[in-house]
Amino acid sequence: MALIIRSSSIHAAGCYTTTPIAKGRRVAEYTGPKLSKEQADHAYEDSPITYLFGLGRGEIVIDGHSMAMFINHSCDANCETSEVGGRVFIKSIRPIAAGEEITYDYCLYDGGDDEATCNCGAKKCRGTMYSKEEVRRRKRAKEKAARNGAGNATGEKTKSKRLPEPQA
Ligand SMILES: [Zn+2]
Repeated sequence: MALIIRSSSIHAAGCYTTTPIAKGRRVAEYTGPKLSKEQADHAYEDSPITYLFGLGRGEIVIDGHSMAMFINHSCDANCETSEVGGRVFIKSIRPIAAGEEITYDYCLYDGGDDEATCNCGAKKCRGTMYSKEEVRRRKRAKEKAARNGAGNATGEKTKSKRLPEPQA
């Protein structure tokens, strides 16, 4: 398996495979220093782009420093993330052809005022990289803020990727 980074129509740079990948394979590992959410918020307070991946319930984040940080979000992704013993792997959920861009659903959460607009181009694009759960939470927070006359709806600043929500 060979991955390369090149420009992407989804966002700036993307990660592509030069060889076909079967379904259910580990494509990459999301590696980097582990920070507490507080440390990450402090370090990236003013950064529009972050490469944070929340572990477990999100108290700890991985600050992406490898190939995997270049993998773009798609609402119709060919990979998903899974956490195994505190490590995060990006796994193929369907066969991927040589030359295809590797993508997974970021399921972003706690992003403050940023709308995290999605440009993935998928037919079922939900228009944002936030998870469905987070979209609902933000809507409720906005409605609450409107009622209370508060400015900032959600309060928190940095946004992190995370594992897909368990299917009910
Ligand atoms: Zn999309």
